[in-house]
Amino acid sequence: MKAPIRSCEAKECLYCKEGHCHAPHIKVAASHAQCEMFTRSVMRYINRRDNSYVEHCRMRSCKWNRHGSCSAHHVDIKYHVDHADCGTYMIRVAAAS
Ligand code: SF4
Ligand code: SF4
Repeated sequence: MKAPIRSCEAKECLYCKEGHCHAPHIKVAASHAQCEMFTRSVMRYINRRDNSYVEHCRMRSCKWNRHGSCSAHHVDIKYHVDHADCGTYMIRVAAAS
């Protein structure tokens, strides 16, 4: 199952309406946990049938990342400076040997 987006606070994004993401899905970048679908716009794209979800995530350092899929129950997206980041990101702690 793909991780649903529970909330998004990036109000400037084309796909954000009342704290919900209306994008068909999102992808999360590799350099840091940034939503690659973030699109600054005064227009709104509203096509919400169900929860949007994380299609793919390249943040391999996150403990929820399983071979590019997000295994979290849900994700919350936070606005940060001028872009949107996954607020559910948690750094993976290496197992003790
Ligand atoms: S920033 Fe990402 S998660 Fe938030 S509404 Fe836009 S596309 Fe959806
Ligand atoms: S919780 Fe981790 S694996 Fe899931 S989308 Fe966010 S950064 Fe990627």
